[in-house]
Amino acid sequence: MKTWTSLKEDQPVVMKMIERMIKDDRMAHAYLLHGDPGTGKQAIALHLAMRIFCKSPHGAEPCKTCTDCRRVESGNHPDLHWLKPEGASIKKEQIQDLQREFTYQGLESNKKVYVIENSDKMTTNAANRLLKFLEEPSRETTAILLTDNQYRLLDTIRSRCQLLALRPLSPKALEAALINEGISPHNARLFQAIAPQLEQAKALDQDTWFADARKLMVQLVSMLHSRSNESLFFVEKQWMEHFKDREQLKIGLNLLLHWFKDLIYIQIEDNASLVMLDYKEQLEQQAFRYTKQQLTTILETITHAVRKLDQNVHPTLVMEQLTLQMQR
Ligand SMILES: [Zn+2]
Repeated sequence: MKTWTSLKEDQPVVMKMIERMIKDDRMAHAYLLHGDPGTGKQAIALHLAMRIFCKSPHGAEPCKTCTDCRRVESGNHPDLHWLKPEGASIKKEQIQDLQREFTYQGLESNKKVYVIENSDKMTTNAANRLLKFLEEPSRETTAILLTDNQYRLLDTIRSRCQLLALRPLSPKALEAALINEGISPHNARLFQAIAPQLEQAKALDQDTWFADARKLMVQLVSMLHSRSNESLFFVEKQWMEHFKDREQLKIGLNLLLHWFKDLIYIQIEDNASLVMLDYKEQLEQQAFRYTKQQLTTILETITHAVRKLDQNVHPTLVMEQLTLQMQR
């Protein structure tokens, strides 16, 4: 179970905003907490609800020991309603039931809180119902909507909420979240380095294009040694066929960058930092064919190639120059 303090460490900006609103007694009627899966939306919603009902808060923090706090934590508070999709969506009937509940006064106090998880999964009818509800705010009611993607919600709903943007996961936390989503530990390690966001990383995992891209990268780096005279031909015929536009080529360069970084990690015996865990054997074979200085120069060259792509230099030209420089 997260604590208020650990939430402040994970999400300092949002938690500071929440603390300020509590201290100034300027709580909103509706919040929209948005951010990647794993960024702590549910935990923050739970703690916010706890603080609203808490009988003896310590400043901005709920005490977590009074009956109200404990009932919120165990999911048994009569005035807290927590909605989730039923099946694939949140249906109109669920919002109607919620509204019916809210026509009565709070059972314990006059306060009521509702949380809607995956609020972007509301059907159009459900969203319109909720909108009406949000348009007639009662002073004692607080809505907390959660979503991975705020843009999937109606603008009219977003505009009635105070937006709280959660920051993306740290690389370590992202890796853990990916493993949690069923991605293999080796791939999770690579994706946290290549794709900074969970959705993006999950998409790469499903993408055969990316699997092929990784194979091509390994082919190219081994060719630089064994058949360096063929590598330019390989780049023209196979590499450029696969990395068709600037964005794709950037992914290819990013893979190369991590390959050469890994070679340095092997040299300095820092196995914990390796990203291409599937290719440890090949990395070990290649690592000592380079001096540290050569590897550093190659890393600079790759970074420079990415910059040239951004400056609109032709992708084929960028890649050919890079290949020649990596051969040296
Ligand atoms: Zn309490």
